[in-house]
Parts: sequence; C-alpha cells; structure tokens
Amino acid sequence: MLDVVIIGGSSAGLSAALVLGRSLRETVVIDDQQPCNRFSHASHGFLTRDGTPPADLLALAREQVRQYPSVAFKTATALHVEKSGTDFAITSSDGSQLEARIVLLATGLHDELPALAGIDGLWGKSVFHCPYCDGYEVRGKTVAVYGADDTALHQVKLLRNLTANLTLYTGSLWTPTVTQRDQLMRAGVRLVEQPIAALESTDTQIHGIRLADGTVIACDALFIRPKTTQRAPFVRELGCTLNANDLVQVDLRGCTSIDGVYAAGDLASPMRSVVIAVAQGAAAAYGINAELCERDFA
Ligand SMILES: Cc1cc2nc3c(=O)[nH]c(=O)nc-3n(C[C@H](O)[C@H](O)[C@H](O)COP(=O)(O)OP(=O)(O)OC[C@H]3O[C@@H](n4cnc5c(N)ncnc54)[C@H](O)[C@@H]3O)c2cc1C
Repeated sequence: MLDVVIIGGSSAGLSAALVLGRSLRETVVIDDQQPCNRFSHASHGFLTRDGTPPADLLALAREQVRQYPSVAFKTATALHVEKSGTDFAITSSDGSQLEARIVLLATGLHDELPALAGIDGLWGKSVFHCPYCDGYEVRGKTVAVYGADDTALHQVKLLRNLTANLTLYTGSLWTPTVTQRDQLMRAGVRLVEQPIAALESTDTQIHGIRLADGTVIACDALFIRPKTTQRAPFVRELGCTLNANDLVQVDLRGCTSIDGVYAAGDLASPMRSVVIAVAQGAAAAYGINAELCERDFA
C-alpha cells in the first residue's frame, strides 16, 4: 500500500512529488508525458527559469525529484481509479495496478482549438492563448484576437496594453454591442466581423488571416481561447465536483469533494500557468502529508 499515487507528472504533479519525497511518503508518479505546453518553444514567467523550453523545465524537475528514494516514476496512462473503503486502486495502460491511501489528480486539461483552417502546427508557436505567457514577445507587433463570443474582449484588453496594433476577429459568430464597439473604437482596436477562411503561415509562423472574401490581413501572432475539458475521464468517474467551467473544485490544500482525492494544477485552476501549477502541487502535498500524519497519529 503506497501513501500516494500522483496521476500526472508535469508541473503540478512533480511539485507535489518533491514535497512528498521530502516527507518520506511512499509515492508513485504515473505520467504519459503529454503536458499541455509541449507545443511551445519557451515557457515564460517562472521566476529563475523564464524562457526555458518546457521539456527542459520538466527534465530538471524530474532530476531533482529523483533524489528522493521514496518517490518512483511510472511511464504509462492511468486508466481507472477505483475507491474501495478509504483506499484507491489505480490501473494503468501497462496492466499494473497500484494501491494507495491518497490519490492526487494532476492530469491537466485537453485543449480543443477552434476549427480554423491552417491552425495545425501554429499552436504554441505563433497562435497563443495566454498574454502573460507569450504577449511580451509580440509587444508592439501586429496582433490578432479571435473569439467565438465576447469573452475574447478580456484578451483584447490585456493585449491592448502590449501593442497598439490590435484587431479583434469575431468570425461572424457574435455581434459586439454598441457599447463594446464604441470601447473598441476608442481604444484603437480594429474590428473585423467577416468569417475567417484560413490562417496563412510559413512553417510555424502565422503571417496573415484570410477572410471569406479573399482579403488577407497581416498579423504576427493570433490569440485564441481553446475550449478546455478534463483530460482524464476518472476525474468525473470518481465523482469529483466540477464547477461551471469544468474545473475540479478544490480548497486551498487541493482537497476535492471526494475524501482522499486531491487535485492540483490546470485541472483545478482558473489561471493556467506553470508557476501557479507548481504552487498548487506543493499546497496539495502539504495537505496530503498533513492528512496522513493526522490519520496515523489518531
Ligand atoms: C501552448 C501553451 C503554452 C503555454 N505557455 C506557458 C508559459 O509560457 N508560461 C506559463 O507559466 N504557462 C504556460 N502555459 C500553461 C502551463 O503549461 C500550464 O499551466 C501547466 O503546464 C499546468 O501544469 P499541470 O501539471 O497542471 O498540467 P500539464 O502540464 O498539462 O500536465 C499534465 C500531465 O498529466 C499527464 N496525464 C494526463 N492524463 C494522464 C493519465 N490518465 N495518465 C497518466 N498521465 C496523465 C500528461 O501527460 C501531463 O504530463 C502554456 C500552456 C499552453 C497550452
């Protein structure tokens, strides 16, 4: 019987593993090595590691966690998590089954990109979702925002702070109100309401947006909001309460609505960022270790 199985060995999961290793907790990290930012050249905004390639960040994290002998790694996909009494059985794609007193879900989110012709290969390279992650690199450049509803205005407001050359594309999917139009106009943000025919690019660099009438409008970067869903089916199967945005509801220590199930990182966070996922992983590990200490003491 392990103390903890962590499912997902990226920023949140490895951060938790570090704290649990230092707490002498018998822990296994199951990971199938598909972090959401694997499409990106560089990860920005993590103090001391700003601009490091995502794979290098994780390699360094794994190397540091490996110093702690109570933590083991398994490269596999976790398929099922079953609760029996207070414990858990975790079945993986390699046919193995692990038993643990606590499960930490750090499985992240699945990003569904909008159906724009030509978007394949651009995600994380010149099509982005996060102004904090990639906005600075395109400051002052010609930037586009595309959104299927008025939540795109949030990105417009953030990016307006970084460039004066900004265009909002509605793809003809929604109509800004009179007030929104007036605000966009006063902020100097161009509004294009025609359907988009395709993104034009060379290799992974977008350079234009072709409209239905054939007009091509130049741009250096496009910001979108992918539709996000839970990556791992057992998040739902376990019965964890999800909020309206499909995120797992947790308290400050990562406790979910199910006893013994904790969650950390993107799957439970309205803000997607490596540093926030790392912090949540550490907080969940504090919660897990405290719970196990309390149980054993009792
Ligand atoms: C394109 C892109 C660029 C980004 N750029 C930045 C940036 O510059 N700076 C920044 O701070 N943030 C950036 N982010 C956000 C950042 O990547 C995430 O907030 C962070 O990776 C979340 O960490 P996580 O551990 O919660 O999830 P993830 O990093 O997505 O990791 C989830 C892990 O769980 C594993 N997994 C999932 N299901 C299973 C299963 N059933 N069995 C086994 N393993 C499983 C996956 O393989 C993966 O390793 C970016 C995101 C994207 C999409």
